[in-house]
Amino acid sequence: MFNRPRKQTRQVSVGAVKIGGDTPVSVQSMTTTDTRDIDATVKQIHQLEEAGCDIIRVAVLDKKAAESLAEIKRQISIPLVADIHFHYRLALIAAEQGVDKIRTNPGNIGDDVKMETVVAACKERHIPIRIGVNTGSLENDLVQQYGRYSPEALVESAMRKVRLLEEMGFEDIVISLKSSEVAGMVEAYRLMSRKTNYPLHLGVTEAGPLQAGTIKSSVAFGLLLHEGIGDTIRVSLSADPVEEVKVGKKILQSLGLFSNMPELVSCPTCGRLQTDLFGLIGRVEKVLEGIHKPIKVAVMGCNVNGPGEVAGADIGVVGGADYLSLVRDGKVIAKLPPEQLEEALLKELERFR
Ligand code: SF4
Repeated sequence: MFNRPRKQTRQVSVGAVKIGGDTPVSVQSMTTTDTRDIDATVKQIHQLEEAGCDIIRVAVLDKKAAESLAEIKRQISIPLVADIHFHYRLALIAAEQGVDKIRTNPGNIGDDVKMETVVAACKERHIPIRIGVNTGSLENDLVQQYGRYSPEALVESAMRKVRLLEEMGFEDIVISLKSSEVAGMVEAYRLMSRKTNYPLHLGVTEAGPLQAGTIKSSVAFGLLLHEGIGDTIRVSLSADPVEEVKVGKKILQSLGLFSNMPELVSCPTCGRLQTDLFGLIGRVEKVLEGIHKPIKVAVMGCNVNGPGEVAGADIGVVGGADYLSLVRDGKVIAKLPPEQLEEALLKELERFR
């Protein structure tokens, strides 16, 4: 892979997962359940854990939600982040409940005295704070000076909070600068990366439904990660959060930043195709979801590009008029009609479970 060297940021521990430094880029998501409903929230977190989520965030909107955090944490295996706005007391309860990180915007948590109380509680328990700045919550003077979607406004807004926390002697900081506008968001992270050494949480806010959000996040994260910027990512989608994790993992995989998952290579098909390849690809993709190994599988429609592509794969298929070739480690091991081929292929894949 030809990514530029990763920027060595200050390392922060979020429970057992580290963010920054030379640790792998982690994938985060956020639950969509009511945090007060412990069973539903734990159930969704287990689904996200299964999909490969590294860190999970939950919204804390009232005292009951805050008081549910210890029990949620007890029932899950990945670090738990409390997302808190407006109410500093909720942040204090979350810290007491033993959360692994707090995400807040010091600009809306109250005055500096309240923020200082939160910082003291986090410091005592080694809980990092993510300063989450959004284009939607910029200070008025910055909007007046730079405009709402200006990268400089996002960076300056975050830097004010960073300075505030630093003045309180707190440096366990992660920063995010979220915007729904990709080009501005990318520029904001580039600027921030030059200004500070704190780890950066990448996110495109209000990215949209599955397809649109995947494209926006892939473009934004792809540009930044390729430049070595970004320590943890969250793909925001108006969809099941499990999809956020799958997309996040695939973005990392496409840049060679995550290796513990299969890669499926398949051709787009064209008029040369003589069999139902899309159905087969869909079924193979499903099977691969349950495999957590860095294998490469290639499913190709014909012998124009097929033999070359499958030669570099662990398992491959090359389509033909009456039969398809099944290839293992570059060698054809069977030539079978479509229905038998699928059975043999799935059997081969089972070996990697
Ligand atoms: S591998 Fe064959 S079927 Fe697939 S796109 Fe290329 S030429 Fe078309």
